[in-house]
Amino acid sequence: MDFTFSAQAEDLRTRLRSMIDERLPPGFLGAFTDDPADLAITIAFCHALADAGELVLAWPSAYGGADGSVWDQTVVREEMWAHHEPRGPQYMGLNWVGPAIMAFGTDAQKNEHLPKIAAGDVIWCQGFSEPDAGSDLASLKTRAEPVEGGFRITGQKIWTSYAEMAQWCVLAARVGSGAKKHEGITLFVLPVDREGITIRPIRSTMLGRHHLNEVFFDEVFVGDDEVLGPVGEGWAAIRHALAHERVGIARYARCERLLSLLRAHFGDRWSELPEAIRVWWARALVEVRAARLLSYRAIAAQAAGGAVDADASLARVVITQTDQLVAELLFRALGEDALRDGAHGGVLAGAVEDHWRYAQAATVASGTIEMQRTLVARSVLGGRR
Ligand SMILES: Cc1cc2nc3c(=O)[nH]c(=O)nc-3n(C[C@H](O)[C@H](O)[C@H](O)COP(=O)(O)OP(=O)(O)OC[C@H]3O[C@@H](n4cnc5c(N)ncnc54)[C@H](O)[C@@H]3O)c2cc1C
Repeated sequence: MDFTFSAQAEDLRTRLRSMIDERLPPGFLGAFTDDPADLAITIAFCHALADAGELVLAWPSAYGGADGSVWDQTVVREEMWAHHEPRGPQYMGLNWVGPAIMAFGTDAQKNEHLPKIAAGDVIWCQGFSEPDAGSDLASLKTRAEPVEGGFRITGQKIWTSYAEMAQWCVLAARVGSGAKKHEGITLFVLPVDREGITIRPIRSTMLGRHHLNEVFFDEVFVGDDEVLGPVGEGWAAIRHALAHERVGIARYARCERLLSLLRAHFGDRWSELPEAIRVWWARALVEVRAARLLSYRAIAAQAAGGAVDADASLARVVITQTDQLVAELLFRALGEDALRDGAHGGVLAGAVEDHWRYAQAATVASGTIEMQRTLVARSVLGGRR
């Protein structure tokens, strides 16, 4: 496979980099800091991308996109993640919520939600995990009881990223009781300010105070028109969503940027670093490039409409491990300057600590690394998926 980007894609990359230079303040670390201005920056950035036709450029024009290729979209993902995700939480709407609505939504749902995502106007969250249903997601207990005109939902979600900032949620709940755990699981799309929903932020986490939340549902009414896909058949939509999510973050791109910033930071002093660090740096760069190619393979499979669970999981295993390898190297090379308040770290101070924290969580989020390995093993050895 030849993954060389077209001249048009490289032009796009150049345009995105100048937009990032113009619009992001120095030291920008994403939307989830204690400074509310950072979330506002990401919303303005999404509007600017949307105005330039580049927020959802790989989406069909019928849904607000530009019929671009997945490789153009890949360039957008790479540049965004490399620069601490100036789209903030909206990357989820583009990466998997929109595609899930395109694949499973009714015409009315497509008309309502896709233009708002394409315009950069809405933030979504994902209500899948529960206190006793993470890796074993199919054992989720949140119930949706059929009532006149819809359902009443009761239960609890946890680790819900961005719920505090979001307007909409894709929620997984159980309707009825099937013979198998996957049966009955149903997806809903609903606003998070609906009566009966309580969002409780989880303030003490290594990702800071504004990322993770618990979400409680107390007899929340959802209409029949808010069911995404067929009732009881949400598992297929969840798999579709998670496969898109797993290759949706171009983590390797930030790794490569930080590796080159590290090299630039030491400049002429590079050769004075211990040889072990320099060898580690070279090895990390090779791993980053391999992670990039595995990600491209999964994206190519997705674009061809093939089965992608295993490709996406394989890419995710390597990408998240590489994230951690790079994070450790950066800390070893910089010492205490890697910390947010490091005196001499320059552009790397803060960025490295932030990268390290998110790298630790990466082998848990979106399905743990152990579960990704299990998915890969099943696809090679056969057996239940
Ligand atoms: C940063 C972050 C963001 C997140 N955002 C969201 C979100 O927006 N929405 C959402 O719904 N969820 C979200 N999650 C939750 C995430 O999907 C779960 O944490 C994850 O699926 C693991 O579930 P758990 O935490 O219950 O761990 P558990 O499932 O309890 O796992 C604990 C440990 O046991 C291992 N384990 C469990 N079962 C097996 C098995 N069969 N074989 C081998 N090992 C096993 C796991 O690999 C893990 O190491 C987020 C998590 C993080 C860290």
